Amino acid sequence: MYKRSVVIFSSAALACVFFVCGFVRLRAASPSAPQSKKTVSPQAWLRGVSDGSTRVVDMTYAINGKLPAWPGDDRTFEAKVVATPEKDGYFARSFWMLEHYGTHMDAPAHFPPGKEFLDQIPVEHLFAPAVVIDVREEVAKDPDYRLRVMRLEKWEAVHGRIPAGAVVLLRTGWSSRWPDQARYRNMDAAGVMHFPGFSVEAARLLIERGAVGLGIDTLSIDFGPSKDFEVHRVTLPAGLYQLENLASLDQLPEVGAFLISAPIKLEGGSGGPVRVFAILPSK
Ligand SMILES: [Zn+2]
Repeated sequence: MYKRSVVIFSSAALACVFFVCGFVRLRAASPSAPQSKKTVSPQAWLRGVSDGSTRVVDMTYAINGKLPAWPGDDRTFEAKVVATPEKDGYFARSFWMLEHYGTHMDAPAHFPPGKEFLDQIPVEHLFAPAVVIDVREEVAKDPDYRLRVMRLEKWEAVHGRIPAGAVVLLRTGWSSRWPDQARYRNMDAAGVMHFPGFSVEAARLLIERGAVGLGIDTLSIDFGPSKDFEVHRVTLPAGLYQLENLASLDQLPEVGAFLISAPIKLEGGSGGPVRVFAILPSK
């Protein structure tokens, strides 16, 4: 237990250092940034959210009953009015939804032997620097593209080693198809879906690097034709979480953004809706 706390603390510390470095690098690139400024404190970037010097990108789709869903998931979301101002003097609804629908988080328990349920994911892991791998060019040529180790090595050659404590996001460009379910699923005549994802080899390298989560702008971090959900089976038991159906991934830099992922605290959940915010310096 002691050892675990130490690991969490050092990941969080590294995450902070990485974010602050990324932030400073991006600010230095902006002509209005004071060149003498060497550090930006976490307090400063959080304060910047309210004064406009820090930008927040909401990477979450609003929830309704018409979002692209996993095939077979016919009943996805329902909301019912239970009180109206006219009758009751106030407005309230009840709602029902799938755990894996819209922008959502997969908890490790989604694929045993993964253990943690949604409410048990360490909160420190929900605050993380974002590493963005842009594969839109590759995906334009091959919708079944899977992120390879070579592509990760190419990213590291430009930006440095992927830091422990990061969430690694795959920017595939697939969100341009949202919310058109047929185009988002991209199913062939045999009922096989075609969209990009991570390869299991790349996922293993990211576990080795100490990533706390993976994310993607498609229905699944495993590519569309996958039958055995190999990447889920490798990363969830290793304690990582996954973010699927992410919005606005095109607005993030490859380094320098900081993610806050706040899932619903659903006891015993295999996953659930998540609100994902990316914090980054203003344009
Ligand atoms: Zn899921």
